[in-house]
Amino acid sequence: MMSREPEMLALTRREFLAVSATSVLIASTGERRAQEKGKPWYATMRRCGQINFNERDPLTMDVNSWADYWASLKVDAVLLNGGGILAFYPTQVPYHHRSEFLGTRDLFGEMTAASKKLNLRVVARMDCNYAYEEAFKAHPEWFERNRDGSPRRHNESNWLYKTCMFSTYFTEQMPAIYREINQRYAVDGFFTNGWPSTGGLTVCHCENCQKVYRDQVGGAPPEQTDATSRLYRKYYDVYMDRVLEVWRLWDQVAKEKMPDSVYVGNLGGGIRAVKDVKRLGEVAGWFNADHQGRSGDTVIWDCAQQGRVAQSVMKGRTITNVTGSYSNSRPTWRHVTKSPAEATLWMAQTTASGMVPWFHWLGGAPEDNRWREVGRSFFNWLAANEPHFRNRRSVADLAVLYPQRTIAFYQSGERGGGGRGVAQSFETSDYLQGLYYALLEGRYFFDFVHQADLTPETLKKYRALLLPNAAYLTDKECEQIRQYAAGGGSLLATFETSRYNEWGDPRRDFALADLFGANVAGALIGPFGNSYMRIEQRHPILRDFEGTALLPGAENRVTIRASEAGPLVLSVVPYYPAFPPEMVFPREPRTDEPAAILRQKGDSRIAYFTGDIDRTFWRSGNTDLGQLIRNSVRWVLGDARQPVSITGEGMAEVFAWETEPGYALHIVNYNNPNMTRGFVRRFYAIGPQQVEFDVAAGKRISSVGALRAGRGLTFKQSDRTVRFEVPSVLDYEVIALM
Ligand SMILES: [Zn+2]
Repeated sequence: MMSREPEMLALTRREFLAVSATSVLIASTGERRAQEKGKPWYATMRRCGQINFNERDPLTMDVNSWADYWASLKVDAVLLNGGGILAFYPTQVPYHHRSEFLGTRDLFGEMTAASKKLNLRVVARMDCNYAYEEAFKAHPEWFERNRDGSPRRHNESNWLYKTCMFSTYFTEQMPAIYREINQRYAVDGFFTNGWPSTGGLTVCHCENCQKVYRDQVGGAPPEQTDATSRLYRKYYDVYMDRVLEVWRLWDQVAKEKMPDSVYVGNLGGGIRAVKDVKRLGEVAGWFNADHQGRSGDTVIWDCAQQGRVAQSVMKGRTITNVTGSYSNSRPTWRHVTKSPAEATLWMAQTTASGMVPWFHWLGGAPEDNRWREVGRSFFNWLAANEPHFRNRRSVADLAVLYPQRTIAFYQSGERGGGGRGVAQSFETSDYLQGLYYALLEGRYFFDFVHQADLTPETLKKYRALLLPNAAYLTDKECEQIRQYAAGGGSLLATFETSRYNEWGDPRRDFALADLFGANVAGALIGPFGNSYMRIEQRHPILRDFEGTALLPGAENRVTIRASEAGPLVLSVVPYYPAFPPEMVFPREPRTDEPAAILRQKGDSRIAYFTGDIDRTFWRSGNTDLGQLIRNSVRWVLGDARQPVSITGEGMAEVFAWETEPGYALHIVNYNNPNMTRGFVRRFYAIGPQQVEFDVAAGKRISSVGALRAGRGLTFKQSDRTVRFEVPSVLDYEVIALM
């Protein structure tokens, strides 16, 4: 192979910006126009904003200054309150309640006209979830009921009644309102606040729902998520069918006026989705994540995880993520600005993970205006560098199976064992969270792959697939994983992966026992602290553990039998007391029970851990467990580096995309005392980062620039590999290669 060694190239800031602004646009505009042909307007949207009106806003709202504000953010679209609970225009639809303060105004119409004058698309923001008493009196069948027949009222605004999704409020009243708005105003789409969400199902006892339970479910389902119940399982499918039926209907109604109009529902929930996001992604032309911020001990990367979940089902189609510019902590303050650093890092994760940011404020007459510049400065920077945010595909060669069924339905109560550990809170997402944390520490580049999307077409770009306790898998999914491994793909799996079907019915053995080289041989053991793994022999997954024969053990493990003779690398040292000190010694210091089985067949490497090392890592923060997971990921990747590698100090999340003009490396700096408890107050810059970035064969890179710092970087290309140093990252950096 001929090696090309282009001369060192360093552009000045001005030269680099000139390159960004002109050649990229020239290179991509013609192509984009061709691509945009036949694509709906929202498919190429890069920024949007929302002012959420309140009932009193018609008294004071200055529509032109609001339209000017959104235009100053260079948004493509604004979301404006049309109606639903309250109409902000003089509606003629019966029982569509007009704002008490509307008077002779048409606030929605005025705001739409002002926005259109500035070439902004308008999406009517609706609310289908509540209505007033006049509607309740005229149409009692529209509303949800408790078991005793009483209506459900809003817990704060208790004059509002909760509407039922199975009623004609959703199939007749809301479409009538959409049609009225479509006829009167130049809207480009509709969005519903709060519906359907990705959270748990609600159970209503209205007459419609009783009929659904009688005819389609076979009885009233449990009120809580409980996949052990036959009724719940049936209801889950019936409920999802209804959500999709309503979504499709509303999308059709939106499109009655023009084919590229759209209905977008409200999703979100980060990694903790109960409703089937794969099915939602199949009807959604546009996926909106109402994932506006964090509170309590939620980790900062919660937003990037939202992006990965949404990407796993939208696969490059439009995803927006709402950032609340107000303080949506606990407690919530709707009318004061959130820490600007926190809001900026949330928007950075939004764009790094390939979503479109949606900036949100409530109330038309703010007394706190500090939030305005937070959105404006970030959005203007995005707009100045827009082509580099037009992604074509992720360049990651590592996949994490998004185990939605396990996250939605996994039951800790099914455990055998009888643990002696401390009382535990149980989060079904802890396994994924632990793996995720280790991947961040290892600076790995990875994508989520939804468990219902394990086709060869999806998996072919990945060298390894990681399964963080994917306990609930279908037979078909297991067969697809088997085919992937047979084709040379590598796997890392933990704990109860494939032990149950998709609803949690236990199998006699792991469905993937043949791949793991392990059979279930007894009850689950745990939770127990103070158990260990013994290092039996050297192996690449045990790198950097010189000086110890013991590693911390998982809190819970499956008792297994190895199905074939193989080297014992890590063995289990069972629990012994941690208190009092006199009693702390191993009763069984050495066993031949494997804590891990490591196998290689051709190119396929398989690492199976019998314990919940991922969850134990997350709960304990133990550094050895993090190191063990990182080493194991490296081993299943064939001990070779990924197409992109980045080394340097600091905690950061990294993404790499092939973009319209070339490539982009996104680095989000989490190195912050507020990484695991909000809000971020200020940033702490991380120092030089060394990058190796493989580009397509034959692709010659002519410039590398840091978009946030606004300067060119010195680089060197050798064959496919472009090497450069990123001197520093304050909050977020995007390195554009073209
Ligand atoms: Zn109902």
